[in-house]
Amino acid sequence: MNVVKPIKSVDDLVMAGLAAPVDRAALEEVAARYAIALTPVVTRLIDRADPDDPIARQFVPDAAELTVAPEERADPIGDHAHSPVEGIVHRYPDRVLLKAVHVCPVYCRFCFRREMVGPQGLGTLDAAAMEAAFDYIRSHQEIWEVILTGGDPLVLSPRRLREIMEALAGIAHVKIVRFHTRVPVVDPEKIDVALMSALKASGKTVYIALHANHARELTAEARAACARLIDAGIAMISQSVLLKGVNDDPEVLAELMKAFVEIRVKPYYLHHPDLAPGTSHFRLTIEEGQRIVAALRGRISGLCQPTYILDIPGGHGKAVVSGSTVRATGDGCYSVSDYRGGEHSYPPAD
Ligand code: SF4
Repeated sequence: MNVVKPIKSVDDLVMAGLAAPVDRAALEEVAARYAIALTPVVTRLIDRADPDDPIARQFVPDAAELTVAPEERADPIGDHAHSPVEGIVHRYPDRVLLKAVHVCPVYCRFCFRREMVGPQGLGTLDAAAMEAAFDYIRSHQEIWEVILTGGDPLVLSPRRLREIMEALAGIAHVKIVRFHTRVPVVDPEKIDVALMSALKASGKTVYIALHANHARELTAEARAACARLIDAGIAMISQSVLLKGVNDDPEVLAELMKAFVEIRVKPYYLHHPDLAPGTSHFRLTIEEGQRIVAALRGRISGLCQPTYILDIPGGHGKAVVSGSTVRATGDGCYSVSDYRGGEHSYPPAD
């Protein structure tokens, strides 16, 4: 199907054959709460013959989003509790989030900031708010890394990105600038010379954390966009969310992690899904997640292993949730489990 226009409404979804007219009322209710957007690249990726397509599941709204579980919350990872000025989240001493924009090219149905992003979200920082955010970074010498997230910072024009990077260039204690984005996958043509030149305008070391959850997202065009970034001197790492019905299978996850490594994107974080409102249909239990992640050990190279993490609700930061493979057994001895589930003493008894 030759899709050329972005999908931004329930009408667009129905017209594109991605929603049934009979579901329109429920989906309009979803749309009133949470933004909808699919780029043409994503729309083309959807397998319409598969009712359980993992791409559609990530981006096409579902009436299940109207069910809010008691444990879910509007700010699941506690950004607000650590926001000293608008647009800044300072949760750990050596790094801050800079949320310059709350718009994305696609809206993920499981988004942890779904109450903040979209046309009805927190918008884009104006010039005064940006300057206040830079002042905060300037006055905190301990900030070594600035992480642009949002929203998706690569929706900004090269001119706006260049302004941000030039402002950061003047802050000597900031050494690393990291971008969290889906753009190389969902709108790969946007990764052009102007954008890459803007990203490099600070002279700082730049990392891009690429958000993708299924190997099918890494199309030839997405791979080429990543290659352009990496060849331009920008390091890339991955971030994925472990999602029921998308990648909650060791084979599927292994394929994704291997694909990242093949395109020089180092697997970094695999997030346990956050307690965002209306997302319980995506969540698996911690034990299920640990079993899936444990099954990656031994199956794929160490290069391909992500760190499975949970953002502790309330803003308490990240915790590693991969099951422990080492257990103290007393007298300075340990039991160590291998990837097949076998137990071994350390140091060995013989
Ligand atoms: S790209 Fe990120 S911020 Fe935007 S909807 Fe998806 S998860 Fe949320």
